[in-house]
Amino acid sequence: MNPARKAALRGGIDLGGTKIQTAVVDARGEVRGEARHPTPTSGGPEDVAEAMAAAMREAAESAGLATEDLVGIGVGSPGDADEKTGVVSAAKNLPGWEGSFPLAKKLKGELGAEVKVGNDVQVATEAEFELGAGREFSTLIGVFWGTGVGGGLIIDGKPWLGRGAAGEIGHMVVKRGGAKCPCGRKGCMEAYAGRSAMEAEARRQHEEGQKTDLFKLMRKHEKPRLTSGVWERALDHGDHLAEKLIERAIEALGTGIASACNLLDPEAVILGGGLGVRFGERLMEPLTKEMSKHLFVDERPPAVRVASLGDLGGAIGASLLFAR
Ligand SMILES: [Zn+2]
Repeated sequence: MNPARKAALRGGIDLGGTKIQTAVVDARGEVRGEARHPTPTSGGPEDVAEAMAAAMREAAESAGLATEDLVGIGVGSPGDADEKTGVVSAAKNLPGWEGSFPLAKKLKGELGAEVKVGNDVQVATEAEFELGAGREFSTLIGVFWGTGVGGGLIIDGKPWLGRGAAGEIGHMVVKRGGAKCPCGRKGCMEAYAGRSAMEAEARRQHEEGQKTDLFKLMRKHEKPRLTSGVWERALDHGDHLAEKLIERAIEALGTGIASACNLLDPEAVILGGGLGVRFGERLMEPLTKEMSKHLFVDERPPAVRVASLGDLGGAIGASLLFAR
């Protein structure tokens, strides 16, 4: 590869609770190489960082170069990712990562390229804004509906990070004194719409005698938890409890998203995440209907679009940390 073309290639790493997705991305946002490894389930940040480095090396190899040739490598990380210092703290979905770890420094040592870290949901939102479903807009909210509910913000064409913790749309309060949220507070949108909160509620109601096939389907398909696919099958079967809990999630999402729209008046909402991508089109009508109940200016609601970059969106967005 000639050096001028090589110089434009960036690396991206999407660090998730179950998988590490890496990509080599060119200046036009095209993926030139990729690799996916499982996230270690034991050990600590050092082990996770080594698995990330291995996956990044593999993606670089598949693009025909070494990681040292990359302009830079961006990381979309869960937990509290400090863009200025490259330190990631309290990434509680990852093994032994309750404290702080200098992830950028460690990866730079392993991979021989500059490394920047950012919030996983924020970088995925930036990818949709630059290259995906949000391309035609300049102000948008990304809502990633999955295990939890994460958010990202683009205001006037630029990422809005606040003091580093902006975009936590999942913890907009939709009901004062309401259901307990995984964050420990009460009444957050995520307490009703997050996949893990929905699973906990399904389990509770099932144990109280409520009939449902959700857990039967989970075992049949050998899933460790109620995945978005399990929820979809249950809905297809007309499972009453699944319908009720999805409806409850949509009510919470509609309320929380509309409240955020009342504050920011964005042109668009981009709906991503495992549940968001799977159910976005199917539940678009009830979701926008629920939003319209709470929109202060309801004659021109924001466009609601399903994220379009799929599984690689996080890694592509991470690579964009070197294009800002
Ligand atoms: Zn919360």
